[in-house]
Amino acid sequence: MPRVKRISWCQNCGVPLLQKVCGICGGVGTDVELTGLADPRPAFEGDLRHINDGLKNCFNTNLSMLGLDGIPMIVNRIPYMDEAVEVVIGGAVVAHVFFDLYTMKWKLKPFRWLCKRLADEDLLPVIKLYSKPKGKGLIEDASPSSSYTDGYVALIDKNEQSIGLAELIGGRLFVLKVWSENECAKPTLTRRSLDDILKANMERVEIARSRACKFTTKINQRFSLSNLTLAYSGGKDSLATLSITLEAGLDPTLVFNDTGLELPETIDNVWRVADRFSLKVSEASAGDAFWRYLDIYGPPARDYRWCCKLCKLAPMSRLYRGVFGEAVSFIGQRKFESRSRRRSKAVGRNRLLPNVIYCAPINDWTMLDVWLYLRRMKLDTYANPLYHEGFDRIGCYLCPYCNVAEFREVENLHEDLWSKWLHYISVWASRLGYDRSYVDRHLWRWVNIPSKILKTLNIHSSIRMDVANRIGYSEVKLCDGSVARLSIPRGFDLNLMDASCYIYGIDLKKLKDILAIASIGSSRVYINIKGREVTIIMRDEGWKLLLKAVARSSFCAKCGLCVDTCSVKALILSDDKMVFERRLCTRCGLCMQVCPSLSIGSKVLLNRFRSVCIF
Ligand code: SF4
Ligand code: SF4
Ligand code: SF4
Ligand SMILES: [Zn+2]
Repeated sequence: MPRVKRISWCQNCGVPLLQKVCGICGGVGTDVELTGLADPRPAFEGDLRHINDGLKNCFNTNLSMLGLDGIPMIVNRIPYMDEAVEVVIGGAVVAHVFFDLYTMKWKLKPFRWLCKRLADEDLLPVIKLYSKPKGKGLIEDASPSSSYTDGYVALIDKNEQSIGLAELIGGRLFVLKVWSENECAKPTLTRRSLDDILKANMERVEIARSRACKFTTKINQRFSLSNLTLAYSGGKDSLATLSITLEAGLDPTLVFNDTGLELPETIDNVWRVADRFSLKVSEASAGDAFWRYLDIYGPPARDYRWCCKLCKLAPMSRLYRGVFGEAVSFIGQRKFESRSRRRSKAVGRNRLLPNVIYCAPINDWTMLDVWLYLRRMKLDTYANPLYHEGFDRIGCYLCPYCNVAEFREVENLHEDLWSKWLHYISVWASRLGYDRSYVDRHLWRWVNIPSKILKTLNIHSSIRMDVANRIGYSEVKLCDGSVARLSIPRGFDLNLMDASCYIYGIDLKKLKDILAIASIGSSRVYINIKGREVTIIMRDEGWKLLLKAVARSSFCAKCGLCVDTCSVKALILSDDKMVFERRLCTRCGLCMQVCPSLSIGSKVLLNRFRSVCIF
């Protein structure tokens, strides 16, 4: 895992620093190397609970027994199969705390200082090695006595110095970490408050605040649009962004998109914050779209996110087109949030909402910057209370991007909401023949479950499925090397086929008996609507475009997203029927890009056809 320096620590004052020099004592901090994206933040009550659970489950102790109550702790999310953070205390990374999917418990892996501390208190067994291991892996010649049980062990050298951490598994010793020379062995353990941390970092906070305000003012002048909106999600980043836009003298309308999958705390937070600043709220709502489309598409997955288009993009698109037209939207996006966000620019146009210019004033802030800024502005008490309950992201409560540990928090807080979803997943999984562990470990979160997870959980790879399983799609039959036939489970929309063919430049002829023939190059599609059957002749690469047009027309959920997206009103949805006004269409292709059925359907059909096609 790459290690990145994003913070340092003042050893005099015992506080984390985002700036080089401590604002309390003027001393220079010592660097702390963080892992992965390095997006540090203060540990809240929920994090302390997880750390205590890990300490209890692995060493039968807790922070209080170790005298660590009230000591400032920073957590930083690290790559792992489920929830996992590294914990920094007093300038030293002291542990990794993670939710173990196998035992379904929090675990804690101690690092140099904590390892020694636990060993000194006889909470962690010790094994003496006569030569220092070179790195991770099995030590062949170590044969610990049978008095050791499986679990973590501290490694010491012949001079009784701590040299690393190992794990005993079935009597075999696996080295997990060998301490490097620059790893902090003596953290500064001083009780400090968030206000002390703010004082130590005040210069940085003021610089970041002033830069963000200037950026916001500049954007406002550059685009000089009368419609200023702020996408408020109920999370801390959008709260900080809101405060920055207000500090810059702007008066944005709060735009909140209720996906229908928000936790009640998030909805309360939106209205509480709007009240606090006396701001108008424009609400986009997906209503019960998720539950309605669930029957059509099956559960969403990390590699199958149909709901983002239907529960986020569709209502937002409707709201912006209907209420704002051209608008600037301030968003709380930060580039340290995820690998994909890392490349995100601070200003741009949303490809799928082309009338909206988005601006992210806090794009280069870490989470610690955000929390210190909120504290500086006395707004931390307006942050969503879910952050204190162990959540570090706010969003849809059943999102496949959540970890099992987060689902547990949802279940603890809102058993009613959770049991509805669990019931759906249980019934769906048992209909497909999956056992209880599939549900307990929430493996529905992937279509293609990562090999690492299958290996850890000891599950055979045959459990993998494709999207077709989710939507109950029927078989594709191969007639010969280049002819395939598929049945259409939910009927076929010929007007949509007409629109897609026009946009793709496919020739479409409507005939009396066969009903329609679409052709491009030497590939053809025969559409027999009455028999709900499509025959595809695959003679060249053109069949892939044909297949996309077929997918859109046969999977259309009548969500209306394409209708809302088309600025020239070439598509109209009337009485659940699609009408296409060819003369108005500019072939911009936007309606195709936003269509969930096109992306899902073509994925299903392409996969199926690839397996039978000779091309
Ligand atoms: S559940 Fe996740 S993937 Fe679905 S709309 Fe919400 S955030 Fe997007
Ligand atoms: S064709 Fe339009 S209405 Fe149908 S699923 Fe696609 S976006 Fe929705
Ligand atoms: S969105 Fe563009 S391609 Fe689609 S119907 Fe409208 S004008 Fe035509
Ligand atoms: Zn200091």
